[in-house]
Amino acid sequence: MSMENVDINKIVLEVMEKLKPVAASAFHEEALELKNRGIYEDPEEAIEKAYVAQKELFEMSLSDRKRITDSIKKHLLKYVRELSEMVVEETGMGNVKDKIIKNTLAIEKTPSTEDLRAGVFTGDDGLTLLELSPFGIIGAITPSTNPTETVICNTIGMVAAGNAVVFSPHPGAYKATNRCVELINEAISMANGPKNLVVTIDNPSLAKSEVVMKHKKINMLCATGGPALVKAVLSSGKKAIGAGAGNPPVLVDATANIEKAAKDIVDGASFDNNLPCIAEKEAIVVDSVFDYLVFNMKSHGAYEIKDRETMDKLVALLVPEKWKPNRKFIGKDAREILKAIGIEAEEHIRLIIMEVEKDHPFVIEELMMPVLPMVRVKDVKEGIDLAVKVEHGFRHTAICHSKDIDVLTEMGHRIQTTIFVKNGPSFAGIGVGGEGYTTFTIAGPTGEGLTSASTFTRKRRCALVGGFVIR
Ligand code: NAD
Repeated sequence: MSMENVDINKIVLEVMEKLKPVAASAFHEEALELKNRGIYEDPEEAIEKAYVAQKELFEMSLSDRKRITDSIKKHLLKYVRELSEMVVEETGMGNVKDKIIKNTLAIEKTPSTEDLRAGVFTGDDGLTLLELSPFGIIGAITPSTNPTETVICNTIGMVAAGNAVVFSPHPGAYKATNRCVELINEAISMANGPKNLVVTIDNPSLAKSEVVMKHKKINMLCATGGPALVKAVLSSGKKAIGAGAGNPPVLVDATANIEKAAKDIVDGASFDNNLPCIAEKEAIVVDSVFDYLVFNMKSHGAYEIKDRETMDKLVALLVPEKWKPNRKFIGKDAREILKAIGIEAEEHIRLIIMEVEKDHPFVIEELMMPVLPMVRVKDVKEGIDLAVKVEHGFRHTAICHSKDIDVLTEMGHRIQTTIFVKNGPSFAGIGVGGEGYTTFTIAGPTGEGLTSASTFTRKRRCALVGGFVIR
């Protein structure tokens, strides 16, 4: 057929018709009628619904999956502020401004089907194909610190990989998760995708979470949270991805651009009130530049506590029981924390800093508060040794400000973290002002690293013997 005979307009109209979203009002009625919001009290029911949905997705094409995730991205972008406000309201942690950045990041920079790269071997014996197939249904357990961000990025990656998802959210963040999952289901319907492809457990509890972890129809678990959760999923007997706690040190040496390092550290450590697992949690600074770094940090919104009595008050408030951060202050504003010890700080203050000894509880514990303990070391060797020690082998995140290639290389090699940021704020490691895609599930303990669609696939091989090689 010659090109002149092809009615391009007709083809375009046909394609447009196929892709046409369900009209909003029609969809709304359907959603109400079928209670298709993806929210279920009973985990068993949620899993059964997701099971049916996954079978449907399995028969759909890669471009269908892409269309579904594109629709999720497009739809959620309209609700970023609402979701961010809901999370701050429900959890009482973090701040709306930074949650908007985090949610937008999760929507815009989580890869979809483009992440699924097949492989091939060819040779005298023929051609072998490496394919990435879905696991089936993934039970995803999510944290209170980045609840909607985790739901968004898990959903995009897991659905792009051909899976259905059952979320078991943190009990302290389930309302915002419900809203997020409801919006995701709206977007899936608009793209004519399967109903209940993404579901969540209403009024979650540890008991309900256990049902998800043990259910025979759940093929994979993905846990984003603290050590108890990671241990629980790794003991489940199922394939599990564990994204656990961090305690990221930032090291500054004498060769660093100190003015820039000061701003980067304040930006990173105060971001969403230090809730992100990747945020700078303690600074280790070479003696010769320590005071100048502190001076510069103060001009970027850090409040320095110097006297012993105030420091003791802060420790008593934030870590009242030895080695146990006070949950009441996790993710709170720096000014609110200061107020609680009788200090009225100026409006621009976003981080509390103080010089402490290297075994101080603030250094050892992951506080998740905008409080950055700073340790003075005599040289880089002592600094790297200490950074490795206080990272506790979590293999999560570390940051280094230095212009000495040998120092950067040595620290990266010694600390073995999943993310290592050089000369930038911690969040550059998840794609904010740094290259690369984003994720809010950083799997250090189980080694998948920064999870993406391909993480949620089974790697398969298909060997064709003696043919298809055209060399
Ligand atoms: P959390 O561990 O208290 O809760 C996380 C989730 O696990 C929740 O849904 C909770 O209900 C569930 N849970 C906890 N213990 C469980 C158990 N024994 N069995 C089954 N389910 C269980 O975490 P949080 O306070 O919401 O989040 C903060 C922690 O998560 C920090 O340690 C932070 O570093 C870590 N985190 C890690 C990543 C990462 O990508 N590595 C991302 C975000 C948060």
